[in-house]
Amino acid sequence: MAKFTDKIRIRVKAGHGGAGAVSYRREKYVEFGGPDGGDGGKGGNLYFIGSRRHSNLSYFLPEKLYAAQRGGTGAGRNKNGSDGDDLIIKVPVGTEIIDSDTGDVLEDVVDDETTHLICEGGVGGKGNTFFKTSTNQTPKFSQPGEEGTGFNITLNLKLIADVGLVGLPNAGKSTLLAALTAAHPKIGDYPFTTLIPNLGVISIDRQKDIKIADIPGIIEGAHMGLGLGLSFLRHIERVKTIIYLIAIDSEDIHHTYELLREELKCYDEKLLDKPSVIVINKADMVDFDEHYIDELSKTFKSRPLFISAKTKYNIQSVIDNIKNLV
Ligand code: GDP
Ligand code: MG
Repeated sequence: MAKFTDKIRIRVKAGHGGAGAVSYRREKYVEFGGPDGGDGGKGGNLYFIGSRRHSNLSYFLPEKLYAAQRGGTGAGRNKNGSDGDDLIIKVPVGTEIIDSDTGDVLEDVVDDETTHLICEGGVGGKGNTFFKTSTNQTPKFSQPGEEGTGFNITLNLKLIADVGLVGLPNAGKSTLLAALTAAHPKIGDYPFTTLIPNLGVISIDRQKDIKIADIPGIIEGAHMGLGLGLSFLRHIERVKTIIYLIAIDSEDIHHTYELLREELKCYDEKLLDKPSVIVINKADMVDFDEHYIDELSKTFKSRPLFISAKTKYNIQSVIDNIKNLV
């Protein structure tokens, strides 16, 4: 299985400004000409830009310094140094750029068009020409050029999905995802799907491009044995809505629901405030009637949907609900 990195620390730095030159004109018959030291060039800026081709952060080297080019030094004959090249670093869409030292989120990369300026290149130093005045015709100094800004940065990739599928192992999350995919073929190729089987992403609406992520929970994370464990729960933070998926043959459906809520709460209390829908799966396993549904519904704030991911019974109602919520 390919390596999947969703969090990494690197160092970034803009280019140092080039130094200004100290130089004097050389002319025939003039022993000591006026100053002609050019300015140093500006250091290159460092930007981040989102990419949809990169699925994770494994191509970064931990703690490596990524630096934009220095500005060129000034020269005689008032020749200015060239500006340093900018460095544009690609990160997968959904990456947060965090200042490792303060914990502040500097930028949030949510598309593949915006360039995010993180480090501004240092200004080039002035050459000695600049300092010529009526009282000092031959200044002997220039500026060294300013340092470019730099940071220790943590890149934190969060999957951006509209709907998070939350359920105990065997609730039928993968089956439901497959059923939804069959009904609405996925548009983009989300590499997550192949890298991590439990993190499937599909689009069920061409216009709105609604994505559903099958998010392994705490219990499941531990069972997966992929060494990913709890870190996967981070992906649910940005999800706009939640589907609680519960198998109808659960010993106590309402208790299972509370358990799932508890699991989310452990992670982030705010998750409990997100709009959600309760879906009871495996309806094909039990003979039930309206009375059963009514009785069960009483234990919930909203009426659960009854579906069968396996036989695709009522799958459309899931889609309609999702569309309403998003
Ligand atoms: P996950 O762990 O939540 O991803 O659950 P899976 O999708 O892997 O499903 C677990 C088991 O439940 C599998 O054996 C599925 O075939 C079965 N299953 C899933 N949905 C249904 C359903 O609607 N009806 C029945 N009878 N079985 C289902
Ligand atoms: Mg699964």
